[in-house]
Amino acid sequence: MIRSTVARIDLAALRSNLRAVRAFLGTDAAPAPRIMAVVKANAYGHGAERVGAALEQAGADALACADIEEGIVLRRAGVTGPILVFGALSVSDLDGVFDYGLTPTISTPSAGRAVQAAAARRGAVCGYHLKVDTGMHRLGFRHDNLRRTLPELVGSPNLRLEAVYTHFATADVPGHQLFEQQRLRFEEALTEIDARVPRHAANSAALLRDSRVWYDTVRPGLLLYGIVPPPLASTIPLQPVMSLTSRVVAVKGLRPGESVGYGARFTAVGPRTIAVVPAGYADGLDLRLERGGQVLVRGRRAPIVGAVSMDMMTVDVSDLDAVAPGDEVVIIGRQGSDSWQQIDVREMAAAIGTIPYEIVCRIGARIERQYTEA
Ligand SMILES: *Cc1c(COP(=O)(O)O)cnc(C)c1O
Repeated sequence: MIRSTVARIDLAALRSNLRAVRAFLGTDAAPAPRIMAVVKANAYGHGAERVGAALEQAGADALACADIEEGIVLRRAGVTGPILVFGALSVSDLDGVFDYGLTPTISTPSAGRAVQAAAARRGAVCGYHLKVDTGMHRLGFRHDNLRRTLPELVGSPNLRLEAVYTHFATADVPGHQLFEQQRLRFEEALTEIDARVPRHAANSAALLRDSRVWYDTVRPGLLLYGIVPPPLASTIPLQPVMSLTSRVVAVKGLRPGESVGYGARFTAVGPRTIAVVPAGYADGLDLRLERGGQVLVRGRRAPIVGAVSMDMMTVDVSDLDAVAPGDEVVIIGRQGSDSWQQIDVREMAAAIGTIPYEIVCRIGARIERQYTEA
């Protein structure tokens, strides 16, 4: 390990979150739904290989990813259980579905024809999940047109319908009427489909919000990484999985009137002490952190000041005792046991007006992921 900026991925926390979500789902009287753990986008930046394998080992019933390439990465990492590919299929990469035993989503009639033709050429039968568009209006067969569009798909001799699903646009917008509308449209659409076919609909927010949409399987992503989708709250005992730390590489004094960084956007009013941290926007740290972003140094909060640059950022440590090169800098995570000694992904996202998903997905490829079991 050479670089000082490191993302630690706590696999024990990840497993604990899976168990906690399972316990939450088991509280209703009905049989608990299965869990399809969502590991798209390199497991939300946490590293799909280790995270996918750990979730499978911890009892996730299936995994889901965005495209065939991501599915292949999971298989090569040793995942043997079902892997659903959410995204649209491009005809060119269909081989991966068969060669790696992935489950495609079919969300258009033409995709159905392409997979049917590919399966027929191989003399194979391909299990698939049918996606119904109930109001997100991205992918999926329109909910109100299934009578026309389904017969050809369902009649395809080399395709086997394994599940039907939809996806909510506003599960994390409390009180938004589209959520309820989509639920009802899905219910209605299901009457067009063999009642024995399993169903699923709930992402993290939806599973927190309404147990009626748990159906046979739920599809949490963010919750498993220990983050509750804002603005929702939850009593599920989750633990953050990713922390991001670095070390001070230089400490610099500023005299009154001097500025730091590109654009000279932070000017010292009185004498200031600046710590230079070797992590920047190339590592996924947002430019907007200069307004309201903080890090932890020596157990204290210190504001990010001046422009975040490609490989570095600067932190005002004037109010802290004797910060020195080598001191640990916590960008995401905990440094001490008091509640203010933690910067979580939700806080960082809120500080810059984005969502936690974007923060974790953007943690750069340059940053080493260190996996811990403790
Ligand atoms: C990403 C995704 C999920 C998981 O969403 P979270 O909000 O992270 O729980 C579930 N279903 C689909 C179709 C997705 O694309």
